Amino acid sequence: MYALVMSEPSSSRTKVRRLAERASYDPATITTILDEALICHVGFVDDGAPVVIPTIHARIGETLYLHGSPASRMLRSMRSGAEISVNVTLVDGLVVARAAFHNSMNYRSVVLFGSPRIVDDATEKWAALEAITDHVIPGRWADSRPMTEKEFKGTLVAALPIDEVSAKVRSGGPSDDEEDYDLPIWAGVIPLQIRPSAPVADSLLTSEVPAPDYVVDYRRP
Ligand SMILES: Cc1cc2nc3c(=O)[nH]c(=O)nc-3n(C[C@H](O)[C@H](O)[C@H](O)COP(=O)(O)OP(=O)(O)OC[C@H]3O[C@@H](n4cnc5c(N)ncnc54)[C@H](O)[C@@H]3O)c2cc1C
Repeated sequence: MYALVMSEPSSSRTKVRRLAERASYDPATITTILDEALICHVGFVDDGAPVVIPTIHARIGETLYLHGSPASRMLRSMRSGAEISVNVTLVDGLVVARAAFHNSMNYRSVVLFGSPRIVDDATEKWAALEAITDHVIPGRWADSRPMTEKEFKGTLVAALPIDEVSAKVRSGGPSDDEEDYDLPIWAGVIPLQIRPSAPVADSLLTSEVPAPDYVVDYRRP
């Protein structure tokens, strides 16, 4: 899928420095993290000051798509072609160490750099909006009332190539100091995952509409 099969940093700024053994530049690792995460955080510079904004994303092939109102500062800033940085983080567990210093988290994260472009092509924009909808709830786009022309025009979509990118992954138990392993202090991992509760039907449903399977059985990929 990737023209460039990355096994090392694609630029000096994507080189993970501290605990570099946790770094990954493997496209499969990176895409899995991007696809599993519900949201990303977009960092950009506005009026000379850094800003980080949470938002929904979706991936199609080697492109990350973001969307929003044309009035959104985040999307307006992308019109200039200025660089942004995107982060996605999945927290897989709380690592409970014997020493306070070694408490940690198990995680999978991605940092991506690039200059986004605003998507003007209607076909690409349509596909991006479908991907963003289905990224959150797979199957929802086909089941929803289709977007109107007005809604389509009133939504801005930006595309960012996934090529200057790194992942960092921590897994496993605590890394305590050798002399601390005999201490009578509990240590281990509290695994964490996104687990949905039972769906709650909208009180304004006008007829008996059963919840679709993708709602009842919702889970992240
Ligand atoms: C859930 C979570 C909690 C963390 N908590 C802490 C903490 O409390 N303190 C702390 O110092 N660090 C923490 N980190 C690690 C942090 O994200 C950085 O990896 C760390 O600060 C190392 O920075 P650096 O100076 O070596 O690299 P930098 O110079 O900051 O980064 C160099 C390049 O490495 C890549 N990179 C760095 N970190 C990541 C990453 N996490 N994922 C993907 N690519 C990355 C990027 O491409 C970046 O441009 C945490 C990470 C996660 C995911």
